[in-house]
Amino acid sequence: MNKKNNAPTRFDNILRTMIVFCFSFIILYVICGAIVSPDLDFFHETAHIYNEDWVVEYPDGTKETHKMPMSLDINDDEMAILYTVLPDDVEDGMYLAVNTGKSFSMSVDGEEIYNFNNTKSNLPGNITKTVIVPVPLDEVYADKQLTMTVTNGKYDRTSVNTAYIGNLMGIFLMLVRNFALQFVMAIILILASVTVICIFAYIKKRDNRNVPLIYLAEGIFAICLWIVFDSPLFQIVFRLYFFDGITGFMLVTTMALPFLLYFDALLENRHHKIFAIFETIIVINFIVLTMLHITGIRSYDRALIYVDLMLLVYIGVMIGVTFNDYVVNKNRDHRNVFIGLIGLSVFSFFEIIVTILSAKTPLKIDIGGLFVLTGMIILLFFAILDQVKVLDRLQQETQNALSATRAKSDFLANMSHEIRTPINAVLGMNEMILRESEEENVRGYANNIADAGKSLLSLVNDILDFSKIESGKMDIVCVEYQMKSLLRDLIMMVRSRMASKNLELILNIDENIPSVYFGDEVRIKQVLTNILTNSAKYTPSGSITLTVENRGIVNDEIELYFSVKDTGIGIKKEDIDKLMNSSFIRVDQEKNRNIEGTGLGVTITRQLLNLMGSKLELDSEYGKGSNFHFILKQKVLDEKAMGSVMSKSEKTAKKESWTFRATKARILAVDDTRTNLLVIKGLLKPYQCSVTTCESGEQCIELCKNSGYDLIFMDHMMPGINGIDTLKELRKDDGIISSYTKVIALTANAISGAADLYRENGFDGYLTKPIDTKELDDCLKSHLPKEVIEEI
Ligand code: ADP
Repeated sequence: MNKKNNAPTRFDNILRTMIVFCFSFIILYVICGAIVSPDLDFFHETAHIYNEDWVVEYPDGTKETHKMPMSLDINDDEMAILYTVLPDDVEDGMYLAVNTGKSFSMSVDGEEIYNFNNTKSNLPGNITKTVIVPVPLDEVYADKQLTMTVTNGKYDRTSVNTAYIGNLMGIFLMLVRNFALQFVMAIILILASVTVICIFAYIKKRDNRNVPLIYLAEGIFAICLWIVFDSPLFQIVFRLYFFDGITGFMLVTTMALPFLLYFDALLENRHHKIFAIFETIIVINFIVLTMLHITGIRSYDRALIYVDLMLLVYIGVMIGVTFNDYVVNKNRDHRNVFIGLIGLSVFSFFEIIVTILSAKTPLKIDIGGLFVLTGMIILLFFAILDQVKVLDRLQQETQNALSATRAKSDFLANMSHEIRTPINAVLGMNEMILRESEEENVRGYANNIADAGKSLLSLVNDILDFSKIESGKMDIVCVEYQMKSLLRDLIMMVRSRMASKNLELILNIDENIPSVYFGDEVRIKQVLTNILTNSAKYTPSGSITLTVENRGIVNDEIELYFSVKDTGIGIKKEDIDKLMNSSFIRVDQEKNRNIEGTGLGVTITRQLLNLMGSKLELDSEYGKGSNFHFILKQKVLDEKAMGSVMSKSEKTAKKESWTFRATKARILAVDDTRTNLLVIKGLLKPYQCSVTTCESGEQCIELCKNSGYDLIFMDHMMPGINGIDTLKELRKDDGIISSYTKVIALTANAISGAADLYRENGFDGYLTKPIDTKELDDCLKSHLPKEVIEEI
C-alpha cells in the first residue's frame, strides 16, 4: 500500500494535548490528595472547628447550651444572642469564621467588633445564600466573652452552621479538605474550556467555519465558574458575598443556553424552532428574575425551585431532540458526542446516588459535584474529538474543492492555448490577405473573417477573465499610464465599429484633467471597451456620448467620472436590478435575439470595477437609451493638463499599424507550429528586417551559436526543450547570447501572472497570440536597438 505522508494531523496534535492534559490532571489529583490528607501537614495550619461551647439566648429570655450547626427558631426581625468564651490562645491575625445564612454582629466586652448585614449590599439586590464570614480577632480578646447577635433578616435561610477559629491559611486549608477536589477540577475545566474557546475561535475565524464546540466549552465554563463562585474557598479568599451569590444565580438561570446553542448547531439547525423556543424562555427568565431580584420584589433564591425545574426541562429537550435525530433521522455523524453524553449521564447517575447516600450518612469529605464534573470532562473530551474530526473532514473537502478549481483553471489555461493558437493562424493569415490582396471581393471576405475571428477571440478572453475573477486570481496591476493614449486607443477601436452602423460618437472629454496616472490601464480600458461596445451593439441609430470629467482631487488622488450614454434600445426598470446584481444576465431576449452575446460583458465589467474600488451604475429608459457610468479613484502622477485626445490626422486618416522600418535588424522566431512562423514572418514583413525561423529550442540554440540576433521571439510551449529552458540555456554563464539580444516570449497562454512568470525567467517582454499588430509595433520599437530603427 502507498504510505501516506507521516506529518501529524490536527487530530494527532489534539490527542497529544489531551494526553498531556490527562497526566497533568492525575498529578494535580495526587497533590490535592496530599493536601487533603490530615496526616500530611505541609502548611502548619493553626485552625480548628469551633462548634462547641456556644450558649444561645432566645428572644423570650430562655438560654440553652448549643453545638453548631444550629437552627435558630426565631421569627422575622427577632434576634437570638449567642455567647462563647474565646480561647486563651487567641492572638493577632486569627479569625473566627462563621458559616451562616443570617445577619449578625459580634461584640467583645460590650464593644462591637464586626457587623455583617446580609440584607444590605453594595450591588442591587440582597445576599441570598449561606456564606462563610471570617471575623478578625485581636490578642486582647483572649479568654473574653464574645457575643454574637443573630437576626433573621428578610431571608430566612438555614442556620448558623459551622464556626472555625485560627489563622486564615489554616481555615482555608480546612475548607480545602472538604472541597478541594471539586474546586481543583472546576479550575482545570475552566482552564480547559478557555483553551478550547481560544483555539477553536481562532480556527473558526481563520477557516470561516461554524464551530459548535465553542458553545459547549462556554457552557462548561459557566458551570465551573458557578461552582467556583459558590464555593466557600472563593468566599474566604475574596469575600465578595453579594457578588458571588447573585452571579451564581444568574449563571444557574442561563447556563443551559450555550448547551442548547451547541446542540442546535451540532444538529445543523434541523430542529432550530424547538431550540429557539427554549433559548427565548431562558432569556426571558433571566430578564424577569433579575429585574424582580434587583427591585427587591422577589429574591432570586425564592425562584430557585422554578429555575431548577426549568434546567431539568432543558436537559430533557436536549436529550430528546438529539436522541430523536440520532434514531429517526439516522444522524450518526456525531458518535463521539453521544459517547460523551453517555459518559456524562452515567456520572450524573453516580452523583445522584452519592447525594442520596450522603444525605443519610454524611461522608467524611464532601464529594458533591465531583461526579458531574468528571462527566463534564468526559463530554468535553469527546466533543473535542468530534469537532476535530468534523474540521478535518471539512478541510479535506476544501482541499478537494481547491484541487478541482486548480484543475479547472489549468484546463482553461490549456484550452486558451489550444484555441488561441489556431485563431492566431487564422487572423495572421487573414491579415496577409488584407495587406496583399488587391481584389475587392477577396478583401471583403477577409474582413468578415477578421470580424468573426476577433469576436471569437474576445469570447475566449471573456471566459478566461470571468474564471480568473471567480477563482480570485484576477490581480489589479497598477502601472504609470497616460490617459490620453488610453482614451485614444479606445476611441479608435470603437469608432470603426460605430462607423459601420452610422452612429455618431460624441466626445465630451475634459481636456484639463491630469495627464499621467497610476492604475491598471489594461483593466480600465477593458471596462470602457465593454461598455462602449455594448452601446454600439444595442444602439440601432443615433449617437453615443463618452464623458470623462474631474469630480475632485484630494491630495494626489482624483475622482474621475466616466459615462457612456447612448440613444439605444434602453433597459426596462425591472431588468436594471437583475443586470446589476446577477451574473450572465441578458435582458429583453425577444427583442435582442438577433444580437449575439453571452451576458459576460456586464458581469466582468462590474467585477473589475469592484476590484478597483468602484461601482458600475446604470440609468436607463426603455426605448430611449442607457447611461452606464462610474466614478474611479486614481492616483495622479502628473497634474499637467492632458490636452486634446485626438489629433487632426487621427480624426481623419486611418493609420497603418507599422510606424518604422528596420532593414538592418536581425530577428529570430522560434515556434513549433509552422503556420505561426509564417504569421510572424508576414507581420514583420513591413519592417523589412531579416527574419530567421526555426521550429524547436534545440535548433534555436544551434542557430544562436553561429550567428547573432537583435531580437528573438520565443514560443513557450514546445516539444523537447520549452521556451523557458531554451532561454536558460542561451543565457548560461558562457553566454551563447549576450544581453544585447532581447528575447520576447510569444505565448498563447493568457493565464494570470504570465507577465511575472516570463520576467522572472529572464524574458525581456512578452506578446500574446494572436499577435496584435499595434502591440508588435510597440514591442519592436522598444526592444530593437535604436540605431536600426528608421522612422517613416
Ligand atoms: P452580452 O454579451 O449579451 O452583450 P453583456 O453582459 O455585455 O452581455 O450585457 C448583458 C445584457 O445587458 C445584454 O444582453 C443587454 O440586454 C443589456 N445591455 C448591455 N448594455 C446595454 C445597452 N447599452 N443598452 C441596452 N441594453 C444593454
